[in-house]
Amino acid sequence: MAMDFVKEMVEARRCLHKRPEEGWTEFETTWFIAKRLKALGLQVTIGKANICESEVLGRDPVLVSDAMKRAAAHGVPEDFLKATEGYTGAVARFDTGKPGPTTAFRSDIDCVLVRETDNPEHLPNKLGFASERPGFMHACGHDGHTAVGLAVAHWLVMNKDRLCGRFILIFQPAEEGVRGARAMAASGLVDHVDYFLGGHVGGDAKLGEIAVMDGGFLASTKFDVSIEGTPAHAGNSPELGHSALMAACAASLMIQGIPRNSHGETRVSVGKLEAGEGRNVIPAHAKLQMEVRGETMAVNQFMADYVYDIFAGVDKAYRVKSTVTKAGESETLMPCPEIYPVLEKVMAKIPGTKLLPRVHSGAGSEDCALFIRRVIEHGGKAGFVLYGCNHHGHHRPDFEIQDEISLPIAFRIFTGFAEEVNGLK
Ligand SMILES: [Zn+2]
Repeated sequence: MAMDFVKEMVEARRCLHKRPEEGWTEFETTWFIAKRLKALGLQVTIGKANICESEVLGRDPVLVSDAMKRAAAHGVPEDFLKATEGYTGAVARFDTGKPGPTTAFRSDIDCVLVRETDNPEHLPNKLGFASERPGFMHACGHDGHTAVGLAVAHWLVMNKDRLCGRFILIFQPAEEGVRGARAMAASGLVDHVDYFLGGHVGGDAKLGEIAVMDGGFLASTKFDVSIEGTPAHAGNSPELGHSALMAACAASLMIQGIPRNSHGETRVSVGKLEAGEGRNVIPAHAKLQMEVRGETMAVNQFMADYVYDIFAGVDKAYRVKSTVTKAGESETLMPCPEIYPVLEKVMAKIPGTKLLPRVHSGAGSEDCALFIRRVIEHGGKAGFVLYGCNHHGHHRPDFEIQDEISLPIAFRIFTGFAEEVNGLK
């Protein structure tokens, strides 16, 4: 591979690493992506143009408007921000001008709410590309995914004469909390593609190890819950108050007690609880962020149904009013056996790598699963690959991806796949 692509990917990844943005607020990131795609001469659509608004989950308009101001202050042009209509993400389309299949590649672009470590040995600190935004970090490698997507776009343009058909390059916002894919997929973006490929750095694969996923990922539903109680003087008239805090605590414990399910693994997490106004006021407000997961969609639904019932019960018991809002949703990975040999043929040829047996144990969730299901249900073929890195766990302050090695491997998977299915024979 030309060293230029390695340099280009590493440079892009490190720029993106400095400016991490959480889901639905990736305006600097979207500008970075769109600028580079346009420079390649590609047709680029941004923001709302790629989104089905009614399917958007977990997007906070206050965070969005703050983020747009921040992006403007950091040099993103006002007319670009206006053109996004408040939505992040970008899609590039590339037509070789020759008949052939349509192939879509997907990269996710958002960060995690983690504060990057101060450890001077951590590579981003050592080399000066650590997050400039305390509390935000590319601690899941989506900066790398984006850098690979951009380099693949460049490669496609440079290799136009050797390729046929069309390409769609998707840069998806808000993967964390499994929010963004749903609204993009619902826009019909991938309904006519013949091939679709997504991937992730890390997971259980070590640096140099690569694998095709043939199942796995937990189905998941994320909830934002707000509880309204009745305030009262805690000393004078506690009987007049209805505590949103106590209701939230009771609900949290009950949620942890949802029964296990013999049809598959489950997960449950109440990750955030804020409640109360002050020491001597019966708390009138509580807010929770929580999630459930299941090995199958039915098992996840079993968990989600309990959540609704628990809040309904708590409302009655504590005389409060809960509002349960779905803030994200994803599915298990739909298998597509026809694409695995094609991918493995490409992957087996990549020097310096070890092709692992197919993986189907992914215990995390990944909303690329929604794109993949949509593609398969519309008659296309879709796959998901892992390319390893050495790490101590995703979403940790010391997450690192060894970009100079891991990203070129991903680049070879995507460009090799493009040659395989869109190459002029
Ligand atoms: Zn991730």
